[in-house]
Amino acid sequence: MRPDKQEHPAGSRSVMRYARWVICSDKVPGNPLVTHELQCVACDELSGPCSELQTAQAWALRHSGANPKHTGYAETARRYWTTSLVEMLD
Ligand SMILES: [Zn+2]
Repeated sequence: MRPDKQEHPAGSRSVMRYARWVICSDKVPGNPLVTHELQCVACDELSGPCSELQTAQAWALRHSGANPKHTGYAETARRYWTTSLVEMLD
């Protein structure tokens, strides 16, 4: 076997190629740039994803109004990202 040649068991061969990718926060079609969701820590009810934080906060105020002992909320913010292939490298 030549020193620059390696043997691989059948089925384990892979091809490694280098490429340059970029990632950016970008508008993904069909989604807002960022969504906010509040969850009641007492009963786990969710506001659902809202493109405006104020919409989720308004839901929390209505939820506390209907359930006066439910006063704690956890927020999950989701930001959408897009990756793009810039170029393949040798
Ligand atoms: Zn609740």
